[in-house]
Amino acid sequence: VLSPDDDGEPRGALAADPPLVPTDEFLAELAADSDKLESSTPQEVLSWAVERFAPKFTMATAFGPEGMTIIHMLSKIAPETPIFNLETGYQFDETLELRETVKQRYGIEVEFKYPDQTVQEYEAANGGPVYKTDPTRCCGDRKLKVLRESAKGWHAWASAIRRDQSEFRAKAPIVGWDSKFQLVKISPLANWTKKDVWSLITKENIPYNPLHDKGYPSVGCWPCTRAVTLGEDERAGRWAGFKKTECGLHD
Ligand code: SF4
Repeated sequence: VLSPDDDGEPRGALAADPPLVPTDEFLAELAADSDKLESSTPQEVLSWAVERFAPKFTMATAFGPEGMTIIHMLSKIAPETPIFNLETGYQFDETLELRETVKQRYGIEVEFKYPDQTVQEYEAANGGPVYKTDPTRCCGDRKLKVLRESAKGWHAWASAIRRDQSEFRAKAPIVGWDSKFQLVKISPLANWTKKDVWSLITKENIPYNPLHDKGYPSVGCWPCTRAVTLGEDERAGRWAGFKKTECGLHD
């Protein structure tokens, strides 16, 4: 595991409390760290992230298989890491139940972060469900805005993306600056395949969303997720019928 610095001291911008300033020097350090971590295991990447950024290190999760894998790893490495979920009000019951399972299995309480308005208030104010007419705006109001608020004050967050999930995600570094949310984004599973993730889930009996066994490889909000058929892309069931393929968190 790489240490934060040769003498164990925090470096550059990290010595200061928020805001973390992405100076050229800091970004160059991140790029160098990312290169070094290319050959590390996800657990080593997470250990490095905790050592380097905790207690300013957090994670947002939608309880997908990759997120559950990282939660499982963090439960052994740093179970005190704060983890949160964007509770849009449109999540499947199965997804919400996973939060309880995580609490029972790992003793980790994933915090729900809510939009300003409940689903009822939001739909009443907009004359009906916004996801039907303008899912980009709905995701903006119920996910992005909440995440922007939730990201404030942190220096780094763990992301569950894998490079082989899409052409866009193929470029994700292990460690990089997230200019959208102004913090460091760490993707410990960037080099893992779907098979790697599911092998660990099976081997270590990691809990997962039962919807994955019912044809939903990628689970988001219920109005915007459908089951996919054999041979379809694993994210084909998200926002089916719209051009949208990402909620805006990773693009
Ligand atoms: Fe709204 Fe669908 Fe986005 Fe959920 S995934 S916030 S329901 S548009």
